[in-house]
Amino acid sequence: MDPQIIDYYNEMPHEVNVIDKMNEELDEVQKENDNLKKKLEEYDKIMKKYQMPRVKVESVEEYQLLEKKLDELGEFIDSETSNLSSVDLHNHYHNYGKSGDIMPGPGCIEDENGFIYKSINKLDELTNHQNREWCEHRILISVEMFMKTEGEVHTGIEINLSGIIFGLNNNSDQEQLPLTYCELSRLNRPSWTDPEDLSGMQGHNILNIPYYNCEKCGKLDDYGEPENYGGLFCIDCQP
Ligand SMILES: [Zn+2]
Repeated sequence: MDPQIIDYYNEMPHEVNVIDKMNEELDEVQKENDNLKKKLEEYDKIMKKYQMPRVKVESVEEYQLLEKKLDELGEFIDSETSNLSSVDLHNHYHNYGKSGDIMPGPGCIEDENGFIYKSINKLDELTNHQNREWCEHRILISVEMFMKTEGEVHTGIEINLSGIIFGLNNNSDQEQLPLTYCELSRLNRPSWTDPEDLSGMQGHNILNIPYYNCEKCGKLDDYGEPENYGGLFCIDCQP
């Protein structure tokens, strides 16, 4: 006969009450469980920074409206940064989130109209305020990467901040956002995206924010380009 759970507990000295022992073990398991829950909450909080918010659209018009807002964001960033010197940009970045107190400088909390604040607000607004942490992190990490690449020599490759923010690679096949950022973003992409797509863009390319149900089969997709295909289709149903 197979050993029974009661045999295990019966091996304990007689004075130990089986129920007490079981309760003790249950307490331990619960403690362990609470610890794991806490750890998971911390992990979720960190991961939120890598979860690009998506916006579901119902029609070609809605899709194009969102595309237009994304274009405008790019134009805004380009025009703002064209007027900023390298030093100004550093100040905006380093003062972000800090209070200037007596002498508010560029990028300080008091400088609400600073371009970093405005860019984060615009990104948060066009993604329907779903995940401000992501918007903030995305803008800041892009500025960081921009400042880093600015000093390097890139023959024939123009580096602009909007390109980094959008998650595009500048024809150089070199990711402009940090590799870890891209990997964590990929890990957090929606379950309906193609797991075989190893292009690496899925999960962090801002142009993938709008998604929809395919007009033909109903599957979720973010392929877009309705102006080329005459509607919102998934990759398999494109005419
Ligand atoms: Zn389809």
